[in-house]
Amino acid sequence: MNIYDFTLDELEKYLIENGFKKYNATQIIEWIYEHKVYDFNNMTNLSKKLISFCVENLQIKDLNIVKVEKSPLANKYLLELNDHNKIECVLMNHDYGYSLCVSSQVGCNMGCSFCESGRLKKVRDLTLGELVGQVICVSKYENIRIDSIVVMGIGEPFDNFNNIKRFISVVTNNKMINIGQRHLTISTCGLVPKIYEFADMETGVNLAISLHAPNNEIRDRIMKVNHAYKIEEVMKALDYYISKTNRRVTIEYIMLAGINDSDECAYELSKLINGKLMYVNLIPYNETSNFNMKRSNDFKIKSFYDILKSNNINVTIRKEMGGNLSAACGQLRASEEGSGKC
Ligand code: SAH
Repeated sequence: MNIYDFTLDELEKYLIENGFKKYNATQIIEWIYEHKVYDFNNMTNLSKKLISFCVENLQIKDLNIVKVEKSPLANKYLLELNDHNKIECVLMNHDYGYSLCVSSQVGCNMGCSFCESGRLKKVRDLTLGELVGQVICVSKYENIRIDSIVVMGIGEPFDNFNNIKRFISVVTNNKMINIGQRHLTISTCGLVPKIYEFADMETGVNLAISLHAPNNEIRDRIMKVNHAYKIEEVMKALDYYISKTNRRVTIEYIMLAGINDSDECAYELSKLINGKLMYVNLIPYNETSNFNMKRSNDFKIKSFYDILKSNNINVTIRKEMGGNLSAACGQLRASEEGSGKC
């Protein structure tokens, strides 16, 4: 078993079941996460018996980085899993610190018409060890502390909900990755039942929704998930989340030329979220050679922004961190597969 596949509670239970003490779990976790000691033999306060049990039964194994693409604002990592599947994550260097965008699945079943990730159907969910492994391998490779995490890479996190819940526990545990709840964001395309479950967890973890359209007609065309959960249902679930947590929700809105970027769309979106504890992040579409959708021009984006602003909507335009390095979701892996290099 890989040590990164355990939450603290689970490791305590595992060690107790094997005749050890609950506090032994904290000792091991502190060696690994705090002191960065990755060999059980060097964990000097553990008994000989516990060391040999760990050596025999546990591995300390993060992920293999097989390719890195660097740019001044963002680095992108292609990672190989044990079964040779590949995923990717992106490190962004913001003025407030390092932020890591992690993947949640191999492939994706949501089938959004503009997104690379979904061209490969879901092969499987990532395990807890693979979610945590992304954070560990990048911080080791760059020798940095990661300050915030967004689950916005390949996959739909709410379609891997159980492991995402366990990941939240490892990320926010102050003996483990130790990143505050408010520095962790989960992005979903809008799996309504899971939004309710997430709300009921009453954590301070941020929620972002890939809305991308102000009405069902447009959203049906570009996001398959809208056939299952209509915008009204998504908005109702978000109201519930806000009432439970009092946390502001991020509305992600990709600007696609001629599809969702008209002035009418901007007015309609303003009406939809007016008065709600939400803010809109306009995302210039990162064009990919596999779809013929185009990014809205800067003038359109600015005019969309101005309309939202004039309707008292909180709105930002996303700074493009990785457009030049195939950094939108799934693009590095897709380009590697296309060229047959990996
Ligand atoms: N499944 C989750 C998380 C992964 S996608 C979700 O849908 O939120 C992360 C974000 O990147 C989503 O908002 C997605 O719509 C957006 N995205 C996908 N392809 C993109 C592209 N080519 N350019 C810009 N954003 C893109």
